[in-house]
Amino acid sequence: MPFDAKTPALALGCAVLTVAALAGCGGTAALDAKPGAKPDATSGTANGATSGATPPVKPVTSAPPAATRSLAGRTVVIDPGHNPGNFRHTSEINQQVDIGTNRKECDTTGTSTADGYTEAAFTLDVSHRLRDLLRAQGATVVLTHDAERPFGPCVDERARLGNKAKADAVVSVHADGSAAGNRGFHVILPARVQSGAADTTAIVGRSRTLGERVAAQFARATGTSPANYIGSGTGLDVREDLGGLNLSTVPKVFLECGNMRDPKDAALLANAAWRQKAARGIADGIGTYLQG
Ligand code: ZN
Repeated sequence: MPFDAKTPALALGCAVLTVAALAGCGGTAALDAKPGAKPDATSGTANGATSGATPPVKPVTSAPPAATRSLAGRTVVIDPGHNPGNFRHTSEINQQVDIGTNRKECDTTGTSTADGYTEAAFTLDVSHRLRDLLRAQGATVVLTHDAERPFGPCVDERARLGNKAKADAVVSVHADGSAAGNRGFHVILPARVQSGAADTTAIVGRSRTLGERVAAQFARATGTSPANYIGSGTGLDVREDLGGLNLSTVPKVFLECGNMRDPKDAALLANAAWRQKAARGIADGIGTYLQG
């Protein structure tokens, strides 16, 4: 699908339409545009994230902003990483599954903060907030699980659920378990893989665009920086060892919202108001991607 090829034209259309149809293009950054302001030279991916302009005030609630984009007719699959029950089902989640490039555990327990706030609880909370924001914009939203099952799903099933839903975008929500001192978020993009059951050829480009949009909007909404330990400061990483990406046939990225093992990041991740900002950033990233 020539989505990427159409993006410049759509972006231009938005720029032209912004004054008359803010709700359609959602370019709130345009509200800050001043005569003589430098044009964004980043192909629109940052959407003003790096401009010096004061960002519009966004209430930290689930209410949509006034210039919300409509996502009616679009399907978004949210994949809350891990499952709170995985700790009690280690033998089941250790079963190996085919991820195309290799065989790997069905699922993992995920990490936690030093005081025991689990990644699985975090991912579900952010996913619920994200679901509510996207539904408020008219999207059809599917969660790969809602802790209604004792463990999992396995990573291959998580990919299949996105495929089956014919999702326009899939975001797998995680938090990292790296060393203290390693801080910030990063988005994981699928590598170009053709191996066994995996063929990401058709989704690599669109997934990168999705990931760039999510990274830019996540940074803007949360005020946090791209990871200082991976991705060379871009907030973007590419991996071929994740079944959830390898087996996807629809645009998909993973988001590591921060590092649970770093005390400063952990304090953010454990803060409900920050999680709402995180969900807003992801929703805005998905929104800018789906609207071109
Ligand atoms: Zn994880």
